[in-house]
Amino acid sequence: MKDKISKSDAEWKETLTPEQYAVTRQKGTERPFAGEYNDCKERGVYRCVCCGTDLFSSEDKFDSGSGWPSFTRPIAEENVGNKTDASQLMIRTEVVCRKCEAHLGHVFADGPAPTGQRFCINSAALKLKKTTGQRSQ
Ligand code: FE
Repeated sequence: MKDKISKSDAEWKETLTPEQYAVTRQKGTERPFAGEYNDCKERGVYRCVCCGTDLFSSEDKFDSGSGWPSFTRPIAEENVGNKTDASQLMIRTEVVCRKCEAHLGHVFADGPAPTGQRFCINSAALKLKKTTGQRSQ
């Protein structure tokens, strides 16, 4: 994996919107069905909004009905990390960007084939790099 990125809270605040900061640096959760990419069907690569690391492919995005962008797998295992999250009276698996430790969302074991996983990710943690030439408005 590439070198990790470490910045102070003040530095992150300079480059992120308040919502992006709350989600990625403070483990926040955006409101369901409100995020930019929940219904997005564009093709491309979803990158970390903080550091630009490739995280998820539109090829692995599916409509989970949860209100958050959902994926069956990361674009590369080494780019995405897991942590145990015992907050809010639940044991969940937090999903983070390996390079900058941004909080992305959580992963659950109730996803569709082929992986059976559901990566439930905040739009505010992502920036879609669209694949050019795949769609005409
Ligand atoms: Fe990152």
